[in-house]
Amino acid sequence: MSTPIRTRFAPSPTGFLHIGGARTALFAWAFARHHRGTFILRIEDTDLERSTPEAVRAILDGMAWLDLGHDEGPFYQTRRMDRYREVIAQMLAAGTAYHCYCTPQELDQMREAQRARGDKPRYDGRWRPENATGRVPPEGVAPVVRFRNPLDGTVGWHDMVKGPIEIANAELDDLIIARSDGTPTYNFCVVVDDWDMKITHVIRGDDHVNNTPRQINILDALGATLPVYGHVPMIHGPDGQKLSKRHGAVSVIQYDEDGYLPEAMVNYLARLGWSHGDAEIFSRDDLVAWFDGNHLSHSPSQFDVEKLRWVNQHYLKALDDAALAQRVSPRLATRGVAVDRLAEAGIDLAAVCNLFKERSATLEELADNAMTVCAEAHPSAEDLATHVTPAVRVVFADFAAVLETVEWNRPALAAAIKATVQRHGLKMPQFGQPLRVLLFARTQTPSLEAVLALLPRRTVIDRLRSRLG
Ligand code: GLU
Repeated sequence: MSTPIRTRFAPSPTGFLHIGGARTALFAWAFARHHRGTFILRIEDTDLERSTPEAVRAILDGMAWLDLGHDEGPFYQTRRMDRYREVIAQMLAAGTAYHCYCTPQELDQMREAQRARGDKPRYDGRWRPENATGRVPPEGVAPVVRFRNPLDGTVGWHDMVKGPIEIANAELDDLIIARSDGTPTYNFCVVVDDWDMKITHVIRGDDHVNNTPRQINILDALGATLPVYGHVPMIHGPDGQKLSKRHGAVSVIQYDEDGYLPEAMVNYLARLGWSHGDAEIFSRDDLVAWFDGNHLSHSPSQFDVEKLRWVNQHYLKALDDAALAQRVSPRLATRGVAVDRLAEAGIDLAAVCNLFKERSATLEELADNAMTVCAEAHPSAEDLATHVTPAVRVVFADFAAVLETVEWNRPALAAAIKATVQRHGLKMPQFGQPLRVLLFARTQTPSLEAVLALLPRRTVIDRLRSRLG
């Protein structure tokens, strides 16, 4: 039997879960699910100055919203310090790491001399065991621990996304793995974690591609089995620049607030840098069935909010009306609607959603549109003066009388509207526009008979009469 697949998402909790992080998490999750493997969540919180509990919360909330459940973790690096120290001690004993006593001034001098000679600044290896025989550690200098990187040969891997990558070891100097205060450094913690957590596939952003050769060399020195690496290209904004706040919201949770559905977001994110034929709309189950690590794009993808809106509207329309009503309810409540009293007032929220979903790409837009029916808006005196002339008053007084007896459904209301318009020799907009202002304090709504049918007869007639004065 082949080794069980184990992937991880390893965010640094320094802010919210952003679009790029969520996409990486989704790929690692989908790959694990596809192979019936294990998906691990690891919080890389060793940067104490930048990591916050709020950011951890925001990441967990973002993952929960997208329903990317992990099987193990969350593991926190700050709780694994003893383990990192233990591995450092082992490496020192094995000679794959060593103490370096260079002072910051010495390192500065070293770099300056290298620059002056036209060389690339790098640590010159003066405390490597083979170079330091007989050298006495200076008094009062707390040493750092450096990894003894191989001097010759190359380090390479076959990247799941980018194909074969190879770097000469001569390009890499001896990485500091523990600072002089004993704290382990970032690349080292990642290595120990990937090793201990038996990660088989590291899927991450290609901003980490430079770390990989160093991490592979350390894993080799530890005798660890190497994971497969897949470095996913960045997400750009429409202008081809790295996605940032200038391009709109980059926090995943902001999209929740803005009325996007998590299932739409997952579908949309999956297509950023991955494809399955020409499929644009697919379920989470399809994604899991298809996500085998192939068809990952080599080039950066572009975040396109118009496409996200299109995908979202698709999911919104696919929800049944009762489910949609449930999802939009909290948004109506924030707009001051007593949602549990709507039925009492003769308003069927599911029917309201059915009418307005055609013109709403997000739950926020749906909530704004649904307000036409769910709340009573009062036209301003100015609007009344502009739209409701003495001539149309007569027409609406007549129409109110017609409404007393018309059958209360769309076709009958449509016929009554048409008959009234014709009887008074009007064109449809001359009737529709002022009636919308009178009843709903807006000039645009779906077809009049459709909106009227959503309100009880009495509500419409009383509202119309009271506003005609
Ligand atoms: N903590 C890193 C980040 O948030 C990810 C490291 C990794 O995936 O190896 O960018």
